[in-house]
Amino acid sequence: MKTQILTKRQTNVAADIIKSGGIVALPTETVYGLGANALDPSAVEKIFKAKGRPSDNPLIVHISEFDEIYSLVKEIPTNAKKLVDVFWPGPLTIILPRTAIVPNIVTANLDTVAIRLPSHPIMREVIKLSKVPIAAPSANISGKPSPTKFSHVFNDMNGKIDAILDGGDCSVGLESTVITFALDTPKLFRPGKITVEQIEKVIGKIEVDKAVLEGVKAGQIASSPGMKYKHYAPNAKIIILDCNRNKYINYVNSKASAEVAALCYEGDEKDLNVLAITYGKEYEYEIMAKLFFDALRKIDTMKNIKTVYARCPNPQGVGLALYNRLIRAAGFEVQKID
Ligand code: AMP
Ligand code: MG
Repeated sequence: MKTQILTKRQTNVAADIIKSGGIVALPTETVYGLGANALDPSAVEKIFKAKGRPSDNPLIVHISEFDEIYSLVKEIPTNAKKLVDVFWPGPLTIILPRTAIVPNIVTANLDTVAIRLPSHPIMREVIKLSKVPIAAPSANISGKPSPTKFSHVFNDMNGKIDAILDGGDCSVGLESTVITFALDTPKLFRPGKITVEQIEKVIGKIEVDKAVLEGVKAGQIASSPGMKYKHYAPNAKIIILDCNRNKYINYVNSKASAEVAALCYEGDEKDLNVLAITYGKEYEYEIMAKLFFDALRKIDTMKNIKTVYARCPNPQGVGLALYNRLIRAAGFEVQKID
């Protein structure tokens, strides 16, 4: 298949492809999404095929104005409304009981649907012009790091989809915060730029699903199917070292070889005797978030590297989202260093 490359001005071409049942990679503020008409099961099926995404992993449905939610969900609880009044448009996804117009393939047969109103002007315009909600998971091959740059999407999807709209780099760089309102109490399924602390300021205490910090064990049922998959796995093995900076530097230097690299923060590289891939300064979580997936993709270009020792982000604020992605990239391997 020939994949068209569209510019920012070609939102109308992207919308025409969506309307006629095709699939287009589109920039959003979180990561690039691979979009299709959410109400057309055969268009949505093309997304699963192009990504190699397991069919039991449901998609997020994107809308361009709040009112578009009414046809998709049965009801909107007060707390859900309060939260989206503060954080929409933006990197927040809410899960609610769905109506019958949402096809089963979108929700992987669940009776709930995940909805987001993104802030990216191009994504919103394409939804508006196509006049349908757009189902869009991240535009990467399943298991690879989510795409935050045009080149990431091109490398994964060229030849497999109808078009890619080049919107430059994504500003947030991590996927949206996902919270469900379909249970008795609101529960966080996936951390993101909108933090637990920010959410609790608006609606009070929320639960955080166990899988956010430790992954889903074999035999357990995942409340959010995406949580059970080892994500973002580079070819090299990533091991997270849970310790302070000094101990990290000493440990990595004691393992130094041409097959070892470090995934660490700016400024660490000058003290390390191995190849270092940095992604922003320590504690500057928003910058780290923006650079993180590109850093993981860089690891895959280093063919000789077999082991990557990663520093362990403090799981607070946006750091929780980074920690959540990193433990998945590391297959949940965290080593405590004393
Ligand atoms: P992605 O679009 O690749 O960022 O993945 C979307 C995430 O949202 C996955 O982890 C899904 O499992 C989760 N998700 C989507 N819809 C639902 C739903 N109805 N219930 C629970 N989790 C969902
Ligand atoms: Mg994804």
